[in-house]
Amino acid sequence: MQQATQDVTACHECDLLIARLPVATGQDVLCPRCNARLFYTTANGTERVMALAIAGLILFLPANMLPILTLKVLGQSQSEIILNSALSLFDGDLFLVAILILLFAIVVPLLQLLLLFYISSALHFHWGGRLLRLAMHSYQHLRGWGMLEIYLLGTLVSIIKLKDIAQLEIGLGLYCLAALILIITLSSIMFNPHQLWHQIHNHRRPNPDKSKGVADA
Ligand SMILES: [Zn+2]
Repeated sequence: MQQATQDVTACHECDLLIARLPVATGQDVLCPRCNARLFYTTANGTERVMALAIAGLILFLPANMLPILTLKVLGQSQSEIILNSALSLFDGDLFLVAILILLFAIVVPLLQLLLLFYISSALHFHWGGRLLRLAMHSYQHLRGWGMLEIYLLGTLVSIIKLKDIAQLEIGLGLYCLAALILIITLSSIMFNPHQLWHQIHNHRRPNPDKSKGVADA
């Protein structure tokens, strides 16, 4: 019975049950009834995710440590970084907003990048184990919770609103933040759960049949 359920998969759009067949790298598996894309495989998918995770972790430091915006009013100048903006909200008794910024603009994006780096490294170096499966589940739960782009949008709105009443200087941190958002978005697009779970499953099998593709997991 268990073998029978492993041999079929359901279309996520129309629920049609389809037999799993071997798929070569680069091939797409489409539902014969609604034409939805069920599976796809990418050449060097793990290594691409690892490269993006490393690039994201490198960019994370300047995006959080360099000034995003410098405001000059009446001869006084003040530079802001993401952490400072959250701490300023704490000082202004806006605890909930400050915690939301800390979580969704700093902690979650950093966790996402660390998890992606761990998952791709573990698969690349064949580490496997329970921690890898936990990391996969954690990343899939966290995937939609990073909201750096909303922080960037808020910064851009502030620039538009303040440009007529104060002198603004866009800092290097803002460019790093934009690049970091691009990297996180690309890594989310490149993250292919079907392919990665297939690789994890193959690591657990005593004699993995590497000639078969993702739809054969
Ligand atoms: Zn379908």
